[in-house]
Amino acid sequence: MPHVITQSCCSDGSCVYACPVNCIHPSPDEPGFATAEMLFIDPVACVDCGACVSACPVGAISPDTKLEPKQLPFVELNAAFYPKREGKLPPTSKLAPVLEAPRVERGDGPLRVAIVGSGPAAMYAADELLTQQGVEVNVFEKLPTPYGLVRAGVAPDHQTTKRVTRLFDGTTRLPGFTFYLNVEVGNHVSHRDLLEHHHAVLYAVGAPNDKRLDVEGMNLPGTGTATEMVAWINGHPEFAHLPVDLGHERVVVIGNGNVALDVARILTTDPDDLARTDIADHALAALRDSKVREVVIAARRGPADSAFTLPELIGLTATHEVVLDRADHELVQRDLAECTDPLTRNKLEILSKLGDADTPASRRRIRFAYRMTPQRVLGTDRVEGMAFTVTGGDDVRTLPAGLVLTSIGYRGRAIRDLPFDEETGVVPNESGRVVGAPGTYVAGWIKRGPTGFIGTNKSCAAQTVHELVGDFNAGALRDPRGRPVHLDRLIRARQPELVDVAGWKAIDAAEVARGGDDRPRDKFTEISDMLAAAATAPKPTMRERLLAGLGL
Ligand code: NAP
Repeated sequence: MPHVITQSCCSDGSCVYACPVNCIHPSPDEPGFATAEMLFIDPVACVDCGACVSACPVGAISPDTKLEPKQLPFVELNAAFYPKREGKLPPTSKLAPVLEAPRVERGDGPLRVAIVGSGPAAMYAADELLTQQGVEVNVFEKLPTPYGLVRAGVAPDHQTTKRVTRLFDGTTRLPGFTFYLNVEVGNHVSHRDLLEHHHAVLYAVGAPNDKRLDVEGMNLPGTGTATEMVAWINGHPEFAHLPVDLGHERVVVIGNGNVALDVARILTTDPDDLARTDIADHALAALRDSKVREVVIAARRGPADSAFTLPELIGLTATHEVVLDRADHELVQRDLAECTDPLTRNKLEILSKLGDADTPASRRRIRFAYRMTPQRVLGTDRVEGMAFTVTGGDDVRTLPAGLVLTSIGYRGRAIRDLPFDEETGVVPNESGRVVGAPGTYVAGWIKRGPTGFIGTNKSCAAQTVHELVGDFNAGALRDPRGRPVHLDRLIRARQPELVDVAGWKAIDAAEVARGGDDRPRDKFTEISDMLAAAATAPKPTMRERLLAGLGL
């Protein structure tokens, strides 16, 4: 029986290269790869060897006999990507071309790279660089814990997605890798410090800001952003004390991308189910007391332009009550009559089968609402609701609500000493090489904008590393001043509380132990607790420091 890719596909393409018969597409060299919502296994060509299962970092692939009932729609979804054929295909020897890893060709000393940020783009870049000998990578992260949005952005009920951290933990064990956690670039060390001590500095700092919705009332108590809410749910220390009031029956989320779905799902999931995840304790307690009965996800365009992806829609409707009101059911039918794109048709078919909003709810539920252009937040001292105009007309629709969250996308933040494009919110770059800033590179959302999935950062980081190594080989990068020991001393003098790989391992182990038998981990949400756990880590031996070139 063939294997099937399911909801948590991260699109990093590892499965493509593991497959001996090249039956997983689109592959990273194919045009559709950058925009695909997931990858698909050809059931006719699959030889059922399971190599893709071992290669997948997020556990997204199973034999079709081992799928859970809610995953069954993915059988058809994988098959539908390929033309219909009869019988089994003969095995092929034409494999997906492996994108060539850049070779460091200069033999006069190691290539030293500083990476700023420790999310997926940073860790994929570190991994790509350390595939060969003669490279040293220092990763700088302002929090004492690494992995960026995987830890603080992926919803806690998507634990399989969070498994990609095992891959990143593997990278931290590679020779040449050093973590400088709890060290803020721009505060403890400057861009110039980093340039002086490395051949290159690669920024993979993501897009930490939210796009702001410029309508009246957006600063009233009871308004917020979905990304802040996700950070609060995930126990990010800067958001642990966010005032989240769930004492009202309705929440309105503006925008209908995957982040909106994440927030709506968590707000309507049975807290007993969430209690088996790594959700922050404060969020779980608030959700147990929550009065929320309905989350309305309001989009300004119609159903065919929904921003959420098909795999996420399939996952959501399999586990949650999702409804549409009558006018929106009519919009779905109208779009279905006109739509020819197979992927969009698939989404519309699912929407057309959703329940009716008039039916009394048996449990907390989600309602999709379309053609709702945000007009203003209602209320005087705090939020009482949201007013929308019907897109393309003058009619006004109001929805009473106690919480209004915008989920209209992330935005990059300017980095001191680097150019910044205010329009697009990215650092101007050519294939990752920052324009007008020699020795400086970018990867991930600060390079290409806030789109794609965790694994999309693998090919994005590989492209940047390719440019960086090429520049090093061509002698275009300035040699670092001093030895690694000098940088290490400088950082320790400015931030005595830095956390290294051993410190992170100690935090990780303490959180997993706190989680007990029922939860993957119970996260620390205060920096002081993280540092106390890190302090229990064994100090590096004299031999280890000497081997790392860090002196005594
Ligand atoms: P997104 O997918 O870009 O969706 C943004 C939404 O905001 C769209 O519905 C957009 O509508 C709407 N919007 C933008 N400006 C607006 C305005 N002024 N007024 C009203 N609506 C407005 O953003 P996201 O949900 O933050 O996701 C970011 C990326 O992370 C995406 O690539 C997403 O797939 C990814 N992600 C993936 C997962 C997952 O795979 N599980 C989870 C979370 C995030 P228009 O379309 O009309 O512009």
